[in-house]
Amino acid sequence: MQFKAFEPDIEVNGQTVYSVVDALGSFKKLAHEILLSVGIGSMSDNGYEIKMDGWYSQESWLKAFERVAKDIGDLTLKQIGTRIPANAIFPAWVKNIDSAIKSIDIAYHMNHRKKGVIMFDPNTGKMLEGIGHYGYERITNENMIISKCENPYPDAFDHGIITTMAKRFELRANVIHDDSKECRKNGAESCTYIVTW
Ligand SMILES: [Zn+2]
Repeated sequence: MQFKAFEPDIEVNGQTVYSVVDALGSFKKLAHEILLSVGIGSMSDNGYEIKMDGWYSQESWLKAFERVAKDIGDLTLKQIGTRIPANAIFPAWVKNIDSAIKSIDIAYHMNHRKKGVIMFDPNTGKMLEGIGHYGYERITNENMIISKCENPYPDAFDHGIITTMAKRFELRANVIHDDSKECRKNGAESCTYIVTW
């Protein structure tokens, strides 16, 4: 189900949240207004402010996405997704399309915390559960990766993230939503994307 957190007490870091502002470009004011309406960020003398090293409620951030979906639309959700890799923290070992798609789930957990603990520790490789996953399945002997995304973020947003990560290493990469599989837009738990190049 889109927009509904799997667990309470989950937070997302400020630099990831900033992707919303980054994606809305010349509509920054609207981004500020939407984020403020869900209690993310604050107004100061310098205008709207998100603390890049701060942490914000995932439930609130999902509410902001719900508003973007309702008031603006899928294209903007996808656009926010495309800005995630430039703003969120990604592991350093990303060097080709396989590691790029594989890294999304790691990055996802590195940019969220649960009860104050960051959900992936690169030193121990330990991952905490509670926010779902971004799948990686390589099809043998084909330039194809299947990514099943079981998480509370919107369909189009994930499409944007995966597309950007794929194209970073394979310019001709194409990412499609597998319409033959279940879809979060219909209340299901996951969406599946097919990456080819
Ligand atoms: Zn879907």
